[in-house]
Amino acid sequence: MCGIVGYIGTKKASPILINGLLRLEYRGYDSAGISTIENNSISIMKDKGRVKNLYNLSGIDDLEGTIGIAHTRWATHGKPSKENSHPHMDNSKTFSVVHNGIIENYNELKKFLIKEGYIFYSQTDTEIIPNLIHYYYSKDNKQDDLKLLRSIKNACSKLKGSFAIEVISKDYPDNMIVVRKDSPLVIGKGDNENYISSDIPAILSFTREFYLLEDLEFVILSRHDAKFYDKDLNSINKRIQTIEWNASSAEKDGFDDYMLKEIYEQPTAIRETIGAKLTEDSKCEFDELDFTKEYLQSINKIYLVACGTAMHAGLAGKNMIEHICKIPTEVDIASEFRYRDPIIDNKTLCVFISQSGETADTIAALKLSKEKGAKTLAISNVIGSSITREADFSIYTHAGPEIAVASTKAYTSQVVLLSILTIYFAEILKISEKEVKSLKKAIIELPSKIEKTLKCTEKIKKFGHRIYQEKDVFFLGRGVDETVAKESALKLKEISYIHAESYPAGELKHGPIALIENNITVISIMTDPKLVEKTVSNIQEVITRGAKTLVVTNQKIDDKMFDTVIHIPETNSFVSPILSVIPLQLLSYYISKEKGLDVDKPRNLAKSVTVE
Ligand code: GLU
Repeated sequence: MCGIVGYIGTKKASPILINGLLRLEYRGYDSAGISTIENNSISIMKDKGRVKNLYNLSGIDDLEGTIGIAHTRWATHGKPSKENSHPHMDNSKTFSVVHNGIIENYNELKKFLIKEGYIFYSQTDTEIIPNLIHYYYSKDNKQDDLKLLRSIKNACSKLKGSFAIEVISKDYPDNMIVVRKDSPLVIGKGDNENYISSDIPAILSFTREFYLLEDLEFVILSRHDAKFYDKDLNSINKRIQTIEWNASSAEKDGFDDYMLKEIYEQPTAIRETIGAKLTEDSKCEFDELDFTKEYLQSINKIYLVACGTAMHAGLAGKNMIEHICKIPTEVDIASEFRYRDPIIDNKTLCVFISQSGETADTIAALKLSKEKGAKTLAISNVIGSSITREADFSIYTHAGPEIAVASTKAYTSQVVLLSILTIYFAEILKISEKEVKSLKKAIIELPSKIEKTLKCTEKIKKFGHRIYQEKDVFFLGRGVDETVAKESALKLKEISYIHAESYPAGELKHGPIALIENNITVISIMTDPKLVEKTVSNIQEVITRGAKTLVVTNQKIDDKMFDTVIHIPETNSFVSPILSVIPLQLLSYYISKEKGLDVDKPRNLAKSVTVE
């Protein structure tokens, strides 16, 4: 996983490339580099560390080239170092390449190339690509315009795994070639210039017109043109898509960090995700779906498959779908699902949830489900992303670009979309009418209730100040509240590096209570009226053993029992995670700030996990 940017036009490329990389840093940030062509020769500047380090490299300002490629790395093969940073060149220094993804058979190809006399200077899988291109290039005796393209295509035909690559060559100083397979890449069209990027927001300030690439489509870019070819190098036509996102919505808008901005954007994200799909008195509509009653009645099981936070959204979805639609629903972690031979047939509906739509494990699980004959439905925040192109049907959260690595507004938008999907199914099935009515009303009221919930900020900040130096924190809940406990523990781990565990509150006494000692922090969520008393009893058990407690609740409880109580608005239990998670998102945020950490770019994590 990484970010790649490219530019070919009439302006100096290096500032444009660095600007694009800075916006893509959420995808990877252990090394950065750029490569341009000037006077028919290739220059490369790269080093380990953040993108901003590029400004300190001597000579970077002297790069005058108007064509260039750039990379911000998230190492998979070889530690972050200057040698392993991209771009990589072939031995003859004819080609410069940046690569996002993993070449799974790189060892075999490396051995082959070493036998052919090639020398390797890095530990990366990527370095085989420029050398393999050179191998085919040197064997091709034709001297036509397509020689470079042919060599790249031949090299790609040997690659197993995932890649988005950009190639420039000193022999073709006015061209760039790009191709992708299972890794994202888009092309932005300007006036006499073309931009390339791993995602749309990074180049949205330059253009709104985009070409979205399919797997193994090759593109020859020149300043004035983009020529597209299929995997057999037949010329193809591509439609330009105009993107409506506002470039400024991808900026911080005055907040200290993207994460805080994104937490505060949740009322809008939810409003936009609800869109026109749901009103109180008409039937729920999804333009993208045409499920029938017969089909829904024929389903034997729904799988909700995802990773990390998106999987936690799935857990909230399972509760609603099973209870309201009466369809057995299982939640699976994509990296497990794909290898555990799940029971799937043409009566199974598999739903895949991924903010970026590029999560490698989720894409692989989707492909497996299709092979086994299931119907597939993708839920993503990114139009045109890989899972939406693979799936039979796609529906979108409209959370806008999420830049902070730790997901907030994408999670709550996913839970909302799953609740609307539940209603859509129930209305087609003509069941649970009373519950559907109450859920609809609750969903429509969510944006204003989120605004009220956000008022807890100061109280949460104070509690964060009290516990930011702790080593362990426990999160407890029952039912739907336990799904929020899971998500909140993950959030705290991700950005504050505090060890956090979540448990179903009733499970504590079966083992984990042994870990409770004097002054440990226990956070609990209590929003289900049927379960609140049970959870209160469980918390009493930890208080007795010296724990300090934070409670997030919309129920009437005896506040005096606990250290801090955050009261949130009441809502339908199924969508309560959308409100109860907010104070706990804020808690993780403020603890991370108190610890002086980089909230938006936590160590070892990347936003879009495009490797297995
Ligand atoms: N596998 C390549 C490397 O380790 C690319 C990783 C990335 O996508 O950043 O250099």
